[in-house]
Amino acid sequence: MLRSVKATELKEVVREMLYEISQRAMELESEGKKIIKLNVGDPDQPTPKEIIDAAFEAMKQGKTKYSFYAGEKTLREKLASIHNVSAENVVIIPGSKWAFFSIMYLLLKNGGNIVIPAPYWTAYELAAKSLGVETRFLRTEIDSNWKIDTEKLRSLIDQKTRLLILNNPNNPTSKVIEKSLLEEIVEVANDKKVAIMSDEVYRDLSFVRTKSILDFGGNHILVNSFSKTFAMTGWRIGYVIVGEELAGKMVKLNQMTFTNIPVFVQEAALKALELKQKIAAGMRKLYRRRADLACKVLSKTGLKFTKPDAPFYFFPKYDNLDSERFAFDLLDNGVALTPGTSFGDYREHFRIALTMPEEEIKLGLEKICEALQ
Ligand code: PMP
Repeated sequence: MLRSVKATELKEVVREMLYEISQRAMELESEGKKIIKLNVGDPDQPTPKEIIDAAFEAMKQGKTKYSFYAGEKTLREKLASIHNVSAENVVIIPGSKWAFFSIMYLLLKNGGNIVIPAPYWTAYELAAKSLGVETRFLRTEIDSNWKIDTEKLRSLIDQKTRLLILNNPNNPTSKVIEKSLLEEIVEVANDKKVAIMSDEVYRDLSFVRTKSILDFGGNHILVNSFSKTFAMTGWRIGYVIVGEELAGKMVKLNQMTFTNIPVFVQEAALKALELKQKIAAGMRKLYRRRADLACKVLSKTGLKFTKPDAPFYFFPKYDNLDSERFAFDLLDNGVALTPGTSFGDYREHFRIALTMPEEEIKLGLEKICEALQ
C-alpha cells in the first residue's frame, strides 16, 4: 500500500509517482471516498457527440477489420493537408505516447543520448529509461519564466545525441516557447545535426499563438494527438509527421505490434478534424475560464506560479515544500495532485491539472491553499 511508503524509500519510487498517485486516487474512490482529481490531464469533458456518432456509423458499416499499418489513407491525407506535408509522412499511432517509445527505440537502440528540457512530461524519461537510453536534462526555472538557455543546450549536445525532445506548450508548466527562442533552438539543433521531436499535443488549445516545429522545415518530427483537443484520451489515437525513411520504419513496427488503430476510431478522428475549429474554440474558452479562476485562488497564497499560456496545468512552487509528502497527505484530504519530482528535480513544485468541473477545481484549490498554511 502506498500510504506506508517511508520518506527514505520515496526516492526510489519518485519517477513513477504520477502513476502511483493516480492508482491510489482510484483505489480510494472505489472505497467510496470522494477525491477531487487534479492529478491527471484527462479532460472531464465528454467526447463530442458527432465524433462518437461517426465511430458508431463506421462500425455499423463493417469497418471492424484489420487495415493499413500506417493508418487509413483518408485520415493521413487530411492530416497531410492540414500540415502541408505528403501523406507518406503521416503515421497513425495508438496515442502520442507510443511515438516517444517507438521513435526512441528506432533511433537509439544502438546507443546514443537524448536531450530534454526540464521540467518534462514523465513518459519521456520512463521510455528512455526502459530502453537504456541516456538522458540529459536542461533545467529551466520558474524565476526565468521557464526559458530555455540555448548556450546550455548547445553544450549538452554531443556526437552521440540523436534527439532533442521539445514539448510546446509544455506539460507541466503550460509555457509556450516564444517564436524567436524556438528559432534559436532549431538553429542549434540544425547546427549540431540533431533531430527535434516536438510534442505539440496542447498546441491546438493554446491561449497564445505558437509555432509548430514543421514551420521550420528540416528533418524534425511532429508528435500530436486527438486526446486533449477533442477529449478523446480513451480512444487511443495520435499521429506523427516524420521523414519518409523513419515513417517506413514506424509502419513496420506498427505491423509487428498493434497492427492498426481500429478503423472506426480513425473515422471518428477524421470527423474530429472536420469539426476542429469549433471544438477547439469551445475547449479553449472553457480552460481559459478555469485558468483565470486558478490564478485568482492561487494568488491569495504564498505560492509562486507563472501564468499559463496553454490549458490544463499549473506548476506552482512553495519554498521548502516536500511535494511528495504533501501529495500523499493531501490525498487523505480528498485532493489528488502530482508532486514536482515526477517532472524532474522539482521537489518544491507540484502540478495541478484543471480537468475537473469549475466547482470542484475551486474546492480542490482551496483545500490545497489551506493545507499549505
Ligand atoms: N504528451 C504530453 C505532453 C502529455 O501530457 C500527454 C498526456 N498526458 C501525452 C503526450 C499523451 O497523450 P496520448 O493520450 O496521445 O498518448
